[in-house]
Amino acid sequence: MTRTLIAGNWKMNGLKASLGEIRDAAAGVGKGKAGVEALLCVPATLLTVAAEAAHGSELKVGGETCHANESGAHTGDISAEMLADAGASHVIVGHSERRTDHGETNEIVAAQAAAALRAGLTPIICIGESLDQRKAGETLDFVASQIDGSIPEGAKAEEIVIAYEPIWAIGTGEVATPDQIDEVHTAIRTRLAQRFGADGADQIPLLYGGSMKPGNAAEILEVKDVNGGLIGGASLKADDFLAIYAQA
Ligand code: 13P
Repeated sequence: MTRTLIAGNWKMNGLKASLGEIRDAAAGVGKGKAGVEALLCVPATLLTVAAEAAHGSELKVGGETCHANESGAHTGDISAEMLADAGASHVIVGHSERRTDHGETNEIVAAQAAAALRAGLTPIICIGESLDQRKAGETLDFVASQIDGSIPEGAKAEEIVIAYEPIWAIGTGEVATPDQIDEVHTAIRTRLAQRFGADGADQIPLLYGGSMKPGNAAEILEVKDVNGGLIGGASLKADDFLAIYAQA
């Protein structure tokens, strides 16, 4: 059975004062729910203290990006090994905000995902189309090309997670409809099956991301090939995050 993952992405939000939210999320997740993982990806500055706050609970913590190299002269960058050392179990790679703000290409994202695997982290590889691409009917082709280009050579199905995040639904309050999500997630699973076989593809959690909230989580999580969510704004408050987790 495909694992379910409810993951938060705090983006560039959170100070030490926000640690109470992580403590509350950890307490709420407690000993966990069978078959459902809970994860908060936080700014690197908070990772060590977040890992401490989550210690003893089933809440995991993760990074939001990583450099492809293990170490070296890359001022300001953070390696996957550093994230693992700080207590991360996962790392988001290829988020559309990174692709846009930092020019990260599929090739770079694949190298980052490979770095995550090298460091023993699970990469959450993000893909998703822009509004222009959707309007032009290019969504499925574009997403397929991102899958082909962003999953590193040699990655095993059980080691990776894919997040489909239509760019037009991120932080906009505009959520994709269940039918739109169904169409893309089915296409993603089919594409993954070409590479990993049907059994392999079924092992890869496919998360939906984009304006997911307690009020719309149930209908999104019911969509056939949706195995969880990648939640931005609504993951900043433990109550909202836990309300979504409770619906998984
Ligand atoms: P929002 O939930 O704030 O729309 O963000 C989604 C996202 O980008 C998660 O990675």
